Amino acid sequence: MPDNVVVRDLRKRYGGTEAVRGVSFAVPAGEIFGLLGPNGAGKTTTLECLLGLREPDGGHLEVCGVDARRDPRTAKRKLGVALQSTALPDKITPREALGLFGAFYPEHVAADGLLERFALTAKADAPFDSLSGGQKQRLALALAFVHAPEVVVLDEPTTGLDPQARRELHDEILRIKRDGKTVLLTTHDLAEAEQLCDRIAIIDRGRIVATGTPAELVARAQGKQSVSLVTDRPLAAALWAGVTGGAEMSCDGATVSFRTADANASVAAVTALLAEHRVELVELHVRRATLEEIFLGLTRSGATATEAAP
Ligand code: ATP
Repeated sequence: MPDNVVVRDLRKRYGGTEAVRGVSFAVPAGEIFGLLGPNGAGKTTTLECLLGLREPDGGHLEVCGVDARRDPRTAKRKLGVALQSTALPDKITPREALGLFGAFYPEHVAADGLLERFALTAKADAPFDSLSGGQKQRLALALAFVHAPEVVVLDEPTTGLDPQARRELHDEILRIKRDGKTVLLTTHDLAEAEQLCDRIAIIDRGRIVATGTPAELVARAQGKQSVSLVTDRPLAAALWAGVTGGAEMSCDGATVSFRTADANASVAAVTALLAEHRVELVELHVRRATLEEIFLGLTRSGATATEAAP
């Protein structure tokens, strides 16, 4: 499959803030690719550069083989976009909005087909301000489709939706993929990324810190285990740091948790420490780290960039 989106060494700064610091990834046709990261990580800036809404300071951007920096007009025709919130006049109806957006393109999809496809036929002539959050998001998706784009870009598409509306939108996004389109989306939500995305890039402070399929990232997470324990009285954090190495450790009174690649050795060191200080173990849990813990570990602790797949 050819790569329908290529982002290579993208850089963007706002005054003193380096929002995007050398981001690279590629998305083949027919894939759902998720950019996942905490607030301010640089996800929206990356998308905005790709969409031609911001001028990057450096890097290469390509959409369906078109150099998006050299020929933004052609690149934009290949892209459909639904941003975080769609601002439309209160009284415009879905049918009118689709007609209006379609008029911007020499070739566009008929409004009736899109209304049906995105389950909006019953609301076709209702004013925008009377639509539910889920209906507004479905209209945003329908608007992204008026010119039958090859690549659909969705910035946090399900934020603020209830579980039912979220699931409906997920179904729509999976259908977009089944139609052979490429989907690039951002989300804060790991469960969502796991359900929808073929591959995920975790982005933090303007850099990609990990890339892979959800299964690959989970497998990487399983290389480490989480240990949590409670003692009958607190021990100084410095003593625990000696046992756990201090990395990814949290110590709150008599409750301690940390991650380890060698649970046997860590538990032995813990029991030795407790015996030395005559402290009793009240609870001890060892379990596999979850993708969420890996995500938090990578985005919290100044992790270095690894495996940034091109
Ligand atoms: P969120 O999940 O909160 O939407 P994000 O990952 O999309 O975050 P960006 O919106 O790309 O992150 O922001 C990246 C960094 O750039 C942040 O530090 C943000 O404060 C800064 N930034 C974004 N837009 C601007 C702007 N127009 N002017 C100045 N700084 C900006």
